[in-house]
Amino acid sequence: MDKILIIEDERRIARFLELELRHQGYEVMIAYDGKTGLEMALEEDVALVILDLMLPGMDGMEVCRQVRKSGSKLPIIMLTAKDDVMDKVRGLDIGADDYMTKPFAIEELFARMRVALKRTHEKEEVSELTTGKLHMDLLSRTVRYGETEITLTKKEYELLEYLMLHKNVAITRQELIHQVWKYEYLGDTNVVDVYIRYLRHKIDDQFEVPVIHTIRGVGYMIKDE
Ligand code: CA
Repeated sequence: MDKILIIEDERRIARFLELELRHQGYEVMIAYDGKTGLEMALEEDVALVILDLMLPGMDGMEVCRQVRKSGSKLPIIMLTAKDDVMDKVRGLDIGADDYMTKPFAIEELFARMRVALKRTHEKEEVSELTTGKLHMDLLSRTVRYGETEITLTKKEYELLEYLMLHKNVAITRQELIHQVWKYEYLGDTNVVDVYIRYLRHKIDDQFEVPVIHTIRGVGYMIKDE
């Protein structure tokens, strides 16, 4: 059962959220101020934080910043009292995963929580990826084909990992640029083709079964044999 931490100084709202979340089957903890909330977020085994922006003492922005500073990737959904675009932008900039403007429909909060929780569970569970004889160990960051270890550069590894995570799905060059190169590369998408060639040279050319397929007019895909 996922434990949800609510950091909200308005007791009426905190109580309402607590009852609704318990009803959904979540375990709930409440902090009524930012400092206590931050301590609980860092110490307790919390799955997600619902964080109000306006809090006595340390405000929600600061709580969020401190959580991220600690290296935690704990999902955070921010509650903003008014429809303040600046607050939302700042909130997302400092690492909140999502935000809700009060008053909000509880069903919408549940939906966003499910998305955020699913994202973390997926990340937690995957520690190895396999297709045919190709095997990636995400913890040691090693790649093998059968018994043979394949040495990849950092980018080659990240590209292969992304394609393996989305096995049997055609991925566009744009998506690969966005997801693998992020902000490091703003030029055209030829770099993807170059790295696909490196991967093919190291994997497909060495072994009998091609792993990386070109999807004409789209991009690339790793298919199960
Ligand atoms: Ca408040």
